[in-house]
Amino acid sequence: MQILPFDNREGTIWVDGKFIDWKNANMHILNHGLHYGSCVFEGIRLYEGKIFKLEEHIKRLFDSAKILDLNIPFNFKEIIQVTKDITQKQNILNGYIRPVVWRGSEIMAISAKKASTKIAIAAWEWPSYFSPEKLLEGIKLSKSKWRRPSPESAPTNSKAAGLYMICSLSKHEAEKEGFDDALMLDYRGYIAEATGANIFFVKNSEIYTPIPDCFLNGITRQVVIEIAKQNNIKVHESYLEMDFLEGCDEVFLTGTAVEITPVSCIDNLNFKGREITKFLISEFKKNILK
Ligand code: PMP
Repeated sequence: MQILPFDNREGTIWVDGKFIDWKNANMHILNHGLHYGSCVFEGIRLYEGKIFKLEEHIKRLFDSAKILDLNIPFNFKEIIQVTKDITQKQNILNGYIRPVVWRGSEIMAISAKKASTKIAIAAWEWPSYFSPEKLLEGIKLSKSKWRRPSPESAPTNSKAAGLYMICSLSKHEAEKEGFDDALMLDYRGYIAEATGANIFFVKNSEIYTPIPDCFLNGITRQVVIEIAKQNNIKVHESYLEMDFLEGCDEVFLTGTAVEITPVSCIDNLNFKGREITKFLISEFKKNILK
């Protein structure tokens, strides 16, 4: 399927306080965000015209910006409102919203505290990340050679664009070998997450998931933990090593893009169970339309 390039679509994007024609939403090549990684973003889903966890995502956007020393020149309420406005202008029922914040062009050097902070919000129609067939059979992960850095080496609790460099490298490598995504360990060798999603395991009908102390505590992750607990499924947040994978019945990913996606294998270990995953998917669906 031919996907239209993102810089060549029809519609409107909100940029620095103005609604701009999609194709004219440009910036100068010399900007700090692009050259020095001073950029944070969000990914938000829209289901049947309702934005899922809007406030939580916008709060994380402000938190991420603050961690990177970026000062968004609008307040929380204004950003909530324009996020709603842009999805209405775009006339989207089921889709994805991408707010992005970056440092501008006034200074092209490492130190750029006085440069402006820019913000844009785009929204587009977008169904499931993986095809329905893929979703049913589960996706295949391979272990990445890249590790999530320690909070002392990178601002790991920020959704910072720079942190995705090793995610793209990991995912490209996985895809080259015929897998769908990569499992990333952390700097200590514990299981961390996939390249753009959190990971969960089911063993003896109980759920296990890594402690998010050097990667995002995903908003979907938190919703899924809550659903599990409400339904008396025990959830353990623990440090997990690779040998924990043996004997797991089910594995799944959670995230705004992937929603809840079953994992069929990690390298040569297969996971055939779907019972708890399917239950959580159906409860999650009820939750998003509430
Ligand atoms: N980890 C990474 C690296 C991600 O990019 C995402 C997606 N934002 C997640 C976890 C899941 O977070 P959320 O459920 O808030 O989308």
